Amino acid sequence: MYISSIINGETFKKESRDTLAVVNPYNQEEIAQIILATPDDLETAVTNSYEIFHQTMKKMPAYKRADILLKTAELLKERKEDFAATIAEEAGKPLKFSRNEVDRAVQVIRFASEQAKQINGEVIPLDAAVGGENRFGFTKRVPLGVVAAITPFNFPLNLSLHKIAPALAAGNTVVFKPAEKTPISAYKLVQLFHEAGLPKGALNVVMGLGEELGDPLVEHDKVQKVTFTGSLPVGRGIREKAGFKKITLELGSNSPNIIFKDVDLEAPIEGLVTGAFAFSGQVCISAQRIYVQQDIYHEFLEKFVNRTKALKIGDPLEDATEFGPMIDEKAAERAKTWIDDAVSKGATVETGGERNGTMLTPTIMTNVKNDMKIIAEEVFAPIVSVIPFHTEEEAVKYANESIYGLQAGIFTKDLNRAFSVADQLEMGGVWINEISTYRQDNHPYGGVKQSGIGREGVKYAIDDMTELKFIGIKLD
Ligand code: NAD
Repeated sequence: MYISSIINGETFKKESRDTLAVVNPYNQEEIAQIILATPDDLETAVTNSYEIFHQTMKKMPAYKRADILLKTAELLKERKEDFAATIAEEAGKPLKFSRNEVDRAVQVIRFASEQAKQINGEVIPLDAAVGGENRFGFTKRVPLGVVAAITPFNFPLNLSLHKIAPALAAGNTVVFKPAEKTPISAYKLVQLFHEAGLPKGALNVVMGLGEELGDPLVEHDKVQKVTFTGSLPVGRGIREKAGFKKITLELGSNSPNIIFKDVDLEAPIEGLVTGAFAFSGQVCISAQRIYVQQDIYHEFLEKFVNRTKALKIGDPLEDATEFGPMIDEKAAERAKTWIDDAVSKGATVETGGERNGTMLTPTIMTNVKNDMKIIAEEVFAPIVSVIPFHTEEEAVKYANESIYGLQAGIFTKDLNRAFSVADQLEMGGVWINEISTYRQDNHPYGGVKQSGIGREGVKYAIDDMTELKFIGIKLD
């Protein structure tokens, strides 16, 4: 199976282009070949998107944009099993979580369809200013033009849609650069939009290497906005190269979860096993640091370890599998060296820590210190640390000692404490009595510090994908 770019509705033949194998992370079988886009292909894609924006999308009425999005959501719902199997195969994500990703993706497109009809402006009371009598003014939200959407491998469908759906809802065109490890769902998604009636060229996908296509895409003068989800180093480079373009960066984190002694442990333990190990911890808001009040620390740890050991490890394509491989062997090797490094500095492996190819067993660490990589950096792997604390102040201090600030979870029955801690945490979002890893697609989502810039969550992404335009009139 060949996967090529789709530009103005056309797929590409290999000809002189290079190819790249797409491999199933569980068994290393080749599942497709990407026909890699060249810089010339990228130029064609951006130029075409620019023309289609001015000729078509900019003029398309809101009801039509909403209809196309709704139709796409319906088609995706019909093809749920196919998309879920594709994600499981190309990303190694267990079917259970892949199905959930498709369900969420359907909702994201529906939210975008609804929001397409709600892009409002406001009337400005111009007579509030001295001399403003007999003047009338209002604002409109207008589309930007070409939006470059660069996406990661870990939620190849849903995180791509968090960019594409709001961009199209607002009347922009999109040049989409999906992760090279997970191009198949991206390819199928673009075809789905075309089937739903999206004009050719409104969504062009370029299949290629980030290192080759990234700079020309980010620096292109016909691109008005870059929206990126991925790692901190790549995000930093994009920030430096994007110049005056609008920019959204959804980057990494080392999410903390704080458990106070007044809670029933059942729910947090069940939640945090998923929060730490779903998709092998390759989730930006994966529970990486769990701070547990000293009085319940040992009970929590014992139960958490036992529940983790019961996870069903296996082939992502089997229904019962709860835990599968990491994306590639390099990622698993890197994670294993971080575990070994922590152990050499005094940390303890309570369970897991064994690697075989792309499989790294679910790992719980204790006796960790702030300068260990498994605490200070984003592990993006099935590794979680459990750390005791005594007081609220201590828990807040530990949680905030990070270059990141995406989402946190707090567990307590004391509402005063919950709100106080939520206010003190330096995060883009805080969940009370819910794990840091929980996300809905309609709340604002994004980071502070080095976790990013801007917010997604369809309505909020639309704000960032439109420009506020003022129109005033002087009346006789
Ligand atoms: P990555 O940064 O390696 O790649 C992401 C995308 O950037 C890919 O499409 C890649 O081809 C492209 N890219 C690579 N080099 C580039 C360059 N120089 N210029 C432009 N684009 C380039 O990330 P990944 O490994 O696919 O994903 C994992 C990372 O994504 C983790 O750090 C994770 O925390 C983060 N992430 C964040 C969120 C969030 O919402 N905050 C969500 C998911 C993942």
